[in-house]
Amino acid sequence: MRALSPQFTAYTWAPSTAEIARLAGIDPIEVVRFDGNVAASPLPSSRPGALAGALARVHTYPHGGYTELVPAIARYAGVGPENVVLGAGADDLIALCARAFAGQGDTIGVVDEPTYPLFGIAAWLAGAEVGDDDPVLTFCCRPNNPTGALDPLPDVRPLAVDEAYYEYCGETALPLIDEGVIVIRTFSKAFGLAGARVGYALADTETAAELNARQTPAPISTLSAALAVAALESPPDVAAVVEERERLARSLRALGFEPLPSNANFLYVPVDDAHGLTEALHRRGLAVRALPGAIRITVVDRQDDDLLLDALARVFDRPSPVAAPGGRRVRRLRATAETRIAVRLALDGASRVRVATGAGLYDHFLEQLAFHAGFDLILEGAGDLETGAHHTAEDAALALGEALSRALGDRRGIARYGDAVVPMDDALARAAVDLGGRPAAELKLARDPGLAAHMLASLAQAARAAIHVEANGRDEHHVAEAAFKAVGRALRQAVRTESAGIPSTKGML
Ligand code: PMP
Repeated sequence: MRALSPQFTAYTWAPSTAEIARLAGIDPIEVVRFDGNVAASPLPSSRPGALAGALARVHTYPHGGYTELVPAIARYAGVGPENVVLGAGADDLIALCARAFAGQGDTIGVVDEPTYPLFGIAAWLAGAEVGDDDPVLTFCCRPNNPTGALDPLPDVRPLAVDEAYYEYCGETALPLIDEGVIVIRTFSKAFGLAGARVGYALADTETAAELNARQTPAPISTLSAALAVAALESPPDVAAVVEERERLARSLRALGFEPLPSNANFLYVPVDDAHGLTEALHRRGLAVRALPGAIRITVVDRQDDDLLLDALARVFDRPSPVAAPGGRRVRRLRATAETRIAVRLALDGASRVRVATGAGLYDHFLEQLAFHAGFDLILEGAGDLETGAHHTAEDAALALGEALSRALGDRRGIARYGDAVVPMDDALARAAVDLGGRPAAELKLARDPGLAAHMLASLAQAARAAIHVEANGRDEHHVAEAAFKAVGRALRQAVRTESAGIPSTKGML
């Protein structure tokens, strides 16, 4: 092989989730990653059904190019399809730009340090050097990874502007594509498709044509293209991430840190011993990115960010700025051909609940159940709602049941039984539960908006619980809601820890 610059070092990945889990002594699903700058979860459009059409044609090439994706990107960006270049992630386009502009003996400029290491790597792989001396191409990252800064655009041309985090700030160099600027973007961040590897560059017609000519013939998989097309039909709203970033920054300041102002979905936090701190957090199952003199924290969501804040408070022996996370905690992921559901459940919680699968009324019922059980529950997912709510509501109940069973562990010491009577306007529901380990469902709901009894039966099955409910009333919504609330109140009693023993005269469950 030809020699590369002596400065070349290959990209290094952070430790794998399995490695961190081993270090922390936990199941890999319990590891929380704050180091990839990716979205907290997939967009609702990323569900098994979105792949069905592409899967049926997966034996063929994307003949004629990506005829849906390219125009969809052009519409999203406000340019023509002739201005779009596709790649397997922004990294592929960084490498394409480097090798298209530079070769042996050339210099590529990289603005700002610290910045994204792939710019240097792409330059060296192209055979070029990195420097300021008459560069044939300059890379700049806006907002900058890892600092989050949005510095003024440099005047040098040609200039490739990496806008991987564009959606979080709305600032773009796109108006300059006819003046020697190439914009590089990705579906890996705000669009939640990092694993699918889809990126694009936007350039003037001539440059885009040259880049396309030098790109591999079919750079992205048709399955990934289908996910990107689906995502572009309802682009993400990042307002909640931006709001959470500011809350996280405030909480970090309350802990005595000084995060830099950020325009992206991560925070750059100067610390004395970044590697020592990162290792301490790995041992707690939390992954952050270690940098020289700082750690970089990806904003996830309130519940997971609070886990990190609480862990930082413990590592530094400072008072925690957040409420203690609930005990008996588990995470579950349930994926079928029809749905994917992610659950975070804490049995000893404070009724902090959010259920979002798109199944409307049924999400609401599960929220009522968890709230009245005193659980902390985040249950998110997406399913084939176009066939009705059936699969999604059923799988949500099964996923919650599985999580509940797992959180109970060997069920040692729990009260086991619980019961409750809950009125709701015209409706009255009585529920009794037994968490002894044998699934049974005796459900007499006088009215049912459709799937209420089925969901309670699914919950009983997956949680290995006996659930008895009798609910009467004139309004079907009230009857069902009272039933879920009553089961929640009954569960609150049944999961309570009472002793260290097995709650059965048999001595086993
Ligand atoms: N550019 C920047 C600035 C990044 O931070 C990243 C991801 N770490 C990338 C590009 C890579 O994006 P992709 O997954 O699209 O290759």
